[in-house]
Amino acid sequence: MSLSSTYRAGGSATYGRDHNATWEAFEAALGGLEGGTAVAFSSGMAAIAAVIESLPPGATVVAPGDAYQGTRLLIDDLTATDRIRVRAVDIADTDATLRVCTKIAGHGPGGLLWIESPTNPLLAIADLGSLSTGAHRLGLRVAMDNTLATPLLQRPLDAGVDVVVHSVTKLLAGHSDVVMGAAVSRDQAVITELIKRRSLRGAVPGPFETLLALRGMRTLAVRLERAETNAAELARRLSGRRGINRVRYPGLPDDPGHGRACEQMQGFGAMVAFEVDGGADGGEGLCRHLRLIVPGTSLGGVESLIERRGRYPAERHLPPGLLRLSVGIEDVEDLWADLDQACKAAGLG
Ligand SMILES: *Cc1c(COP(=O)(O)O)cnc(C)c1O
Repeated sequence: MSLSSTYRAGGSATYGRDHNATWEAFEAALGGLEGGTAVAFSSGMAAIAAVIESLPPGATVVAPGDAYQGTRLLIDDLTATDRIRVRAVDIADTDATLRVCTKIAGHGPGGLLWIESPTNPLLAIADLGSLSTGAHRLGLRVAMDNTLATPLLQRPLDAGVDVVVHSVTKLLAGHSDVVMGAAVSRDQAVITELIKRRSLRGAVPGPFETLLALRGMRTLAVRLERAETNAAELARRLSGRRGINRVRYPGLPDDPGHGRACEQMQGFGAMVAFEVDGGADGGEGLCRHLRLIVPGTSLGGVESLIERRGRYPAERHLPPGLLRLSVGIEDVEDLWADLDQACKAAGLG
């Protein structure tokens, strides 16, 4: 690990906000997985901000109405000062999304289609190939948040996406002890712009964080495999349980995103969303009675986390009883026993 803030003059590295050998090791690993050149950032939001703020003033962003709330809040913040414009879409509806892209094409400079798939937290699946091809035909650039799937389940650059962003905080680092982000692209102009923004805005990750992220990525494949097996089993059991309504998991055969996920993903991920009888009170009641699964925000760690997303003002569009479960690598029987006892204790039958 390189901790230096400065370097002896005359070498390739100059100063710690511009160069760091530990970033380079991380970037080589993530770039290899995504099939592009990676740029490490201080957080997922720093990477997202670098991509969106690279747009020219007045550009329009077409983004999922149910995108990650930080992305929506950033876009709202930038639209409030007329820096950019936004059009919200249902990203799982390819035709409707491309109709909106057609409307904005040619209106002002530098339009961008922002894709999330699976979306957080509704786990809708977007058609990456058709959206990328359609948006490019209209002259739009395409960016995508690949946090929930990771490059092990899908490689958006292969599907035609121009730039991929990650909250490294989540599955990539995987142990709920790092906040970090990254962007990946095959377009050298995009990479140059992102590196410039990282230096000028100071959105640099610490070397310790970068080392932890690299360390976490070494076990990504085995963590994800186990978490995904657990998630599939919990989704199946929750679907048949009294007190639980609509279970969203792309691996369930009757999930609206199942067919598309089978075509473009190598697996269905470790996130499950489900609705609890009794709305907000029912959802909060279930969370209160859990003993193993931890109520808390974030996702992608080795421990299971659960959260009623509707408790945030920016998430009021969600069903009030919707719980987002980030499934960890615990014993699946322990996880099920905990959910089952919490349902009973919360009066959910
Ligand atoms: C957490 C998250 C982010 C933001 O990442 P930070 O590392 O918290 O800044 C972005 N997108 C998705 C899908 C996330 O889950």
